[in-house]
Parts: sequence; C-alpha cells; structure tokens
Amino acid sequence: MGTKKTRKFKTEVQQLLHLIIHSLYSNKEIFVRELISNASDAIDKARFKEQTEPALFADDTDFHIRLATDSEAKTFTISDNGIGMTLDEVNDNIGTIAQSGTAAFMEALEKSKKETSLSPELIGQFGVGFYSAFIVADKVRLDTRAAGAEKGVRWESDGKGSYTIEEIEKEKRGTSITLFLKDPEEGDQDFTEDYTIQHIVKKHSDFVTYPVIMNMEKSEPIPENEVIKDSEGKPIGDTYRKVRKDETLNSMKAIWARAKEDVTPEEHEEFYKHISHNWDKPLETIHKRFEGVTEYDVLMYLPSKAPMDMFRPERKNGMQLYCKRVFIMDDCKELLPEYLGFVQGVVDAPDLNLNVSREILQEDRLVRNIRKNLVKQIFSTLEGMEKEKYEEFYGEFGQSLKAGIPTDYENKERLAALLRYKTTKSGDKSVSLDDYIANMKEDQKEIYFLTGESLTSLLNSPLLESLKARDFEVLLMVDPIDEWVTQSLHEYKTKKLKSAEKGDLDLDKVDDEKKNEYSALLSFLKGKLEARVKDVVVSNRLKDSVSCLSGDDWGMSAYMEKILKASGQKTPDQKRVMEVNVNHPVLEKIKGLFETDTTNPVLTDYSDLLYDIAVISEGGKLDNPARFSALLGDLMAKAI
Ligand code: ADP
Repeated sequence: MGTKKTRKFKTEVQQLLHLIIHSLYSNKEIFVRELISNASDAIDKARFKEQTEPALFADDTDFHIRLATDSEAKTFTISDNGIGMTLDEVNDNIGTIAQSGTAAFMEALEKSKKETSLSPELIGQFGVGFYSAFIVADKVRLDTRAAGAEKGVRWESDGKGSYTIEEIEKEKRGTSITLFLKDPEEGDQDFTEDYTIQHIVKKHSDFVTYPVIMNMEKSEPIPENEVIKDSEGKPIGDTYRKVRKDETLNSMKAIWARAKEDVTPEEHEEFYKHISHNWDKPLETIHKRFEGVTEYDVLMYLPSKAPMDMFRPERKNGMQLYCKRVFIMDDCKELLPEYLGFVQGVVDAPDLNLNVSREILQEDRLVRNIRKNLVKQIFSTLEGMEKEKYEEFYGEFGQSLKAGIPTDYENKERLAALLRYKTTKSGDKSVSLDDYIANMKEDQKEIYFLTGESLTSLLNSPLLESLKARDFEVLLMVDPIDEWVTQSLHEYKTKKLKSAEKGDLDLDKVDDEKKNEYSALLSFLKGKLEARVKDVVVSNRLKDSVSCLSGDDWGMSAYMEKILKASGQKTPDQKRVMEVNVNHPVLEKIKGLFETDTTNPVLTDYSDLLYDIAVISEGGKLDNPARFSALLGDLMAKAI
C-alpha cells in the first residue's frame, strides 16, 4: 500500500474554486447534476471500452449511478461503475483544470479581474464539473478504481489549497464520491433528504441514459393478512410500514428520440448543459428526425456564447454519436466540419454498427451523408433566423463561419451569404454581401474591400479616396481571419471581390499627358527608393493624400504581412508599389525642384518622406522614425 501524499492544488484551481463557491451560492443544487454528468460520462467511456475489451468489465456490466444520503453523518454519496481512474489520472484530472480549458480559463480569469470582480457568467463558459462539490461540502472524498486496475485510489480535500492522495483497497470498479456537507445556511435545501435529491435529479438529469438509483425510505401498505386486527376485524396495529427500496429517479428517456413537440424548452436547456458542460442557454435548438433510406434522430444546439478556447486545436467537437440510444462516442469530428465544431448535439443512427471505430467512421457512407445533412440543416437554421438573433449569433461565432470559407469548398457561396461586414457607408450596422450588391452603383462592377487593423484606420485610409469620390461602398474587414476569407473568396454571385489596395482599380484614369510629364521624376524616385519599393507609379486611387502603397492583385496585403510578422512567421520580403498623387501640389513642387537641379540633395529627403507618409497612412511602422521626425522638424521650421 502506498503512503498518503499531500499535494498542493495548482493556483488556477484555487482561483476556480473560489469563483465557483462565490458565484454559485444561490444555485447550490447544481452539484448533483455536475456529478451525475461526470458519472454518466465515465460509464459512457466504460461502455465504449467494453466493445473492445469485454473481459475488463465482465464482473459488472449492470451500468448505473447510485446516490445515497446520510442525515446523521451529513453526507451525500454518488457512485458509478464506470471507467474509474488510475492514480495518475486522478492526479491529472482532479486538482488541475481540464487540460483543454486551462489556458483559456486563466486568460478569462485575468481579464475578468481587470474588469470588475469575478463574474459568474465567466464560469458558465467552463462548466464547473467536479469542483461544484465544494459549493456544498467542506470535505470531499473520492474513491476510485480504474477498469483493470488492482488497487484503488483515495483523493481527499477540504478545497482549501491542498489534497491528499493514497492507494486503497477498493472492491468494485468505478468511482464513489462522498461529500461531507457544510452546515446549511438559511433557506438552503437539505441535501441529506432523499426527496430533495429525487426532485433535483428529476429536474436536471432526467434524460441521463443510465439509471440513477437511490435506496429510498418509503411507506407501503402492510399486506392484509399481516395486519394485526382486533376481534371485530379492525386493525389495531399500523397499516403502513416504512421500507427501503431502490428507486430509479430518472426516466432515461432519450430526449432526441421523443416527439419534438413533447420536449419543453427547460428540458432542452438541461440537456444542453449536460452534453456541453456549459452553463449558458442554447440560442437555437434543432431537433429533427431524418427519414428516407435510413432514419436517424438529430438534436443540435447552437450555444449562445462562444467558448473561450474556440480556436484551440485540442478543442473537442461538440457532437456525440449514439446508436439505438447507446452511446458510441463523443468529440465525433466526422459528424461536422471543424468550423462548426461549436455546435453541441447528438446523432442517433440505428443503422450504424455499434462497434464502429473512428477510422471506419471516416469512410462510412452513412456518416458522410449524415454530415452533409447536418451542415445543410445548420445553414438553413442560420438563414432563417431573425435579424437580431442572427447578429447575436454572428457576434459570437462569425469567426468560426469565416474559417469555413477556405475549408468548405462545397458550401462556400452559402457561407459567404452569412458573412456580415461594416462598410464605408453602413455606420454602426453590418451588412451582408447581398445587401452590398443591392447597394452597388450602376457603374460599379466589383465588390470592394479593404483589410486592416481597425475600423478607424480603414475608414480614413488614403487607398479609398477615389472609391469614396465615386460613392462606391467598401467592405471594411478588421478580423485577421478575413485575410483568409478574401484569399479564397474571389467572387460572390458573379461579382468579383476586389481589394482596394491591390492592382489596378480601373477608376478615374490620369491622362497620359500628365503621366508623361512625371515619368522622369518617377524613375528618379524609384531609383532612390529601390531597396524599399518595386515601382513608383501615378496613382488613380488617391484624391487628397500625397502617396500610398499598393500591392499586386495576387500579392499579400499589408495587414496579412503584419499578422504573419506578429505571429513570428517569416514573411517573404515582398516589395510593394508606391503610388503618388500627381494632382497634389507637393508633387508639382518636387517636380519643379527636380527639373531645375536633379542633384539637389533635398530630393533624397523628399523621396524618403513620400515613402514614410505612405507607410504611416496605412498604419505601418517606419524603419527609421528618428530620421522621419528630423526631416519633418526641418520642414516645419522652413514653412513656419
Ligand atoms: P470535466 O468533466 O468538464 O472534464 P471535471 O472537473 O468535472 O471536468 O472532471 C475532470 C475529469 O475528471 C473528467 O474529465 C474525467 O476524466 C475525470 N472524472 C471526473 N469524474 C469522474 C468519474 N466519476 N469517473 C471517472 N472519471 C471522472
């Protein structure tokens, strides 16, 4: 037998516990649901493993969850005969925060600390799981034995900074958690009361697919022939007696298999919380039976809040796969493309093979067919949403949809219709590409956009001057992922998407005569700036500003370059084109100087300034800001 070891909680666990206890004191009963969910997950895992290693489970296949209360000892116990945990697993899972969420959680925690006090909403995005036990308990004991292990493990903690862990003898596989309950505060429910627990289970966990059993004290009539009677046949003793009986507290009715109209919003909400481990309410519920060659039930929820770790690669897909009510697997990546991984739900496909493995699933025609239908269903739900509701959704999950554009070729156009952008004309509102097209000017052929870091800088970008003069609307894209969107969305409803900073805008042409007048100066400038620009040309983008930088149609945008640099990636040194506004008086003056004396040293200063101004106006960083301010200082001194 190993010795008992005391270990400290990781700091984030301390913080989480504090947060849980202080934000959930008015909703204490949810610990029951959280622990039942964990037990049910553990049985899911056992059942899954049983498919391939039946011997490990042969001694006990009657899967269930058992609850017990003890009003004298003031305890509440929940036991399951699920997969159990090894010593290492206990160390890894309990006492830290579920791996995938840790970093995201810490970020959120830090942020919320800066903003106000810890917000209860924050917790809704994580699910509190096991730690919810500490809302009601001042000590928690967890005994567990993993399937196939000889020894068990005991974990114990008062939730105040450390826990103990030791090997124990444990007769049965699975996990048993005992809560040593705190003294109730005024208005608290009594969690040692069987009926209280029964009520809570019914409310939060009715659909759990394994029986939740409690040995309850009940009154039952004493059989006629056992009742003691007087000479006239009247009972003189009790006609009822107290007995203890195992009761199954939940109906176990798979919510997805019930008729759509029979499921209440409250039931959906509870089920959503159960499968998503989230606390928010679903924004939208999709409940449907697909019928045809094969039949299957689908229940999907669109969450109302995006998870903190939405874009972490280790994040799980929210779909679970069932076959005739039997859990097959969660994190079922085959059921939805990655960019829709935030959708939480269940597919129950009776025609699937129960022993199906992940590898087989990928090849399975039925699964591919289901996936196609699920995606379609999600799209039509989104398309049918009321404007405000959709905007709410888009605010949370717009980025995910965007991630689908470069990856889901088949649905690109449909996804594109779901995008929303602010524009040079839309003010605070966002518009769809269809709105944009409806607003296009008669002589406008393309959909213009500009990517960059902030709306303010985009709105004021010199690159938009001639487009604005034409009264053409421009989509303003400020999300880094938009760079990937525009790289793969070249066209929408036969209209080309055109970057305002790239290639020829094909607008007001500067006449050739004027171009010729400037050609000598431009080649001179090009020579001066050779190291930094590819070319210096007459601009037909600029109206008021002096100079700007533009790219090739297929080159990288300035913002893309910035993003890549910020993420530490090496970017190919791509030179861009400097455009100058030959209608600007400054250029005329420079031309004058140049024509009088091409060796005038001030021309070098001016070419540098023209370049620096172009860089600054797109929000870029100067290579030599000190030189820029020295030059500008000089100029001001001369001008004033
Ligand atoms: P979550 O359930 O969100 O992952 P928890 O803190 O509730 O977070 O649980 C952490 C991990 O501990 C679970 O992912 C699971 O691996 C393990 N665990 C919790 N309860 C049980 C249980 N009853 N049986 C087996 N493993 C469990």
